[in-house]
Amino acid sequence: ERLEHIDEIVVQDLDFSYGESHVLSNINFRLAKGNILGIHGRSGSGKSTLLKLLMRFYDPQQGEIRINGINLKAINTQNLRDNMAYITQQTYIFNESIYENIIMANRNASKEQVINAAKQASIHEFIMSLPNGYETKVTELGNSLSDGEKQRIGIARAFLHNAPIILLDEPTSNLDSLNEAIILQSLLNAKAEKLIILVSHRTSTMAICDHIIKIENGRMS
Ligand code: ATP
Ligand code: MG
Repeated sequence: ERLEHIDEIVVQDLDFSYGESHVLSNINFRLAKGNILGIHGRSGSGKSTLLKLLMRFYDPQQGEIRINGINLKAINTQNLRDNMAYITQQTYIFNESIYENIIMANRNASKEQVINAAKQASIHEFIMSLPNGYETKVTELGNSLSDGEKQRIGIARAFLHNAPIILLDEPTSNLDSLNEAIILQSLLNAKAEKLIILVSHRTSTMAICDHIIKIENGRMS
């Protein structure tokens, strides 16, 4: 099946192991459009794994994930992922221009939309300070982008992708509080039309969430 007008994600009685190693037990939540769900928990508690299950990189051994009532297994995987913008803990930067590194998330975007996404991700001013602005090649910078700059380029991609579901895995871990605040405000501005899941250790990031779940030893607590 194909997804249209996504309104809700439900995770029900989900259990997941990597082979013998049990990671998640009895996870349950419902996320409706217009809301931000925060997930926190210690390193290794299974937060990134949960996002990967939502993108169907793996299937749960028990329980199910449904979008608009449709089991993930019944949804065309490409269609599922087209509806998701995903920001990982590591942003991969290609040896191309900065512009190319952002527009790759949505080839149909206009220049104005690229710039707007960069502004939402608090990276526009930095880009304008580069010798050739958006046309600066990453190689010209000696591949010297900082982790926080890379992370913000990843976030600009996610905004440009314009998917109804946004999954963010520690999106602000390398950012100072000013850049973080700008990005969190951009998420708040976008959230009415989105379903957002935000994984973070930071209380400042959790503050924008409508609901928060904590995972401890693979269980919700
Ligand atoms: P962090 O806060 O450090 O990012 P996390 O909560 O995102 O941690 P996960 O990456 O989901 O944690 O990992 C949960 C557990 O599953 C960890 O014990 C990890 O070592 C293990 N794990 C993760 N990926 C795999 C894999 N591909 N194969 C086997 N075990 C894995
Ligand atoms: Mg993780």
